[in-house]
Amino acid sequence: MRIKLEHGAGGEIMEELIRDVILRNLTLTSAGGIGLDALDDGASIPFGDRHLVFTIDGHTVRPLFFPGGDIGRLAISGTVNDLSVMGAKPLALANAMIIGEGFEGENFERILKSMDETAREVPVSIITGDTKVVEDKIGIFVITAGIGIAERPVSDAGALVGDAVLVSGTLGDHGIAIMSHREGIAFETELKSDVAPIWDVVNAVAGAIGWENIHAMKDPTRGGLSNALNEMANKANVGILVKESEIPIKPEVKAASDMLGISPYDVANEGKVVMIVPKEYAEDALKAMRRTKHGKDAAIIGEVMEKYRGKVILETGIGGKRFLEPPLGDPVPRVC
Ligand code: MG
Repeated sequence: MRIKLEHGAGGEIMEELIRDVILRNLTLTSAGGIGLDALDDGASIPFGDRHLVFTIDGHTVRPLFFPGGDIGRLAISGTVNDLSVMGAKPLALANAMIIGEGFEGENFERILKSMDETAREVPVSIITGDTKVVEDKIGIFVITAGIGIAERPVSDAGALVGDAVLVSGTLGDHGIAIMSHREGIAFETELKSDVAPIWDVVNAVAGAIGWENIHAMKDPTRGGLSNALNEMANKANVGILVKESEIPIKPEVKAASDMLGISPYDVANEGKVVMIVPKEYAEDALKAMRRTKHGKDAAIIGEVMEKYRGKVILETGIGGKRFLEPPLGDPVPRVC
């Protein structure tokens, strides 16, 4: 076997690589809590009466500077968001940078300043790191690990029949903004990535309805909403029904995705959370999200059902229904 680009694209092909190669070769994969084999957004380690949550992400996005953000903002947000959707308050980050020889110092500093600014928004400190320079002209890769603390970790597998499904805002912004930028598609309103840390959104909901009432959470990054919902349906062995008319999508994202022939449901978001809560708490969760800076466009988009276990059904605008399949890989490469 040789590694192909699809093996890192966040869809079914990547999942095969993780299950059939990575998990077959690594044999100690749990520290007593949620371990590697759970394939969740992060791992947990029981610690006294609470849980440490630990996660790491490598960032390879191209271009390094894109509308709405850059690799620095992405690296902080990506790791903070994986901690947040595990139900963990971000405590500290580690930052490793692999830089290609010849990389422009000015750009390097611009990336660091952006990381600092984003970390201050959370706030979370960057307390350790590593810097390597290689002779290959790779530009820069930024790898961030994060540690957080949770009263009660929230997995992505806890959806129950009858629950409501919420999203914290518009879908497809990051992937479609990057692809439009690369393709040079111009619109009257500039498409911007949604890249942002969303601890405020998650924490506001927990404050309103309690951690115990957040049954499942996930950040819909590579593979987008389609991938996140399918993983949640599959892991909990439930069906998920979402209504197309309720899924918030910016008109310019819709227009660009039509032009590119890419579904906004299949591409990465970098400042959103998909949350599953009991139906009776859905309105309170929605209100809490909408009061936050990054949750203004939050919506209840569907429900968890007994039928179609392991599947996601999309109810289309004209009243039809179809399966919302997980993409084989995110249609936009090098997106995070
Ligand atoms: Mg994640």
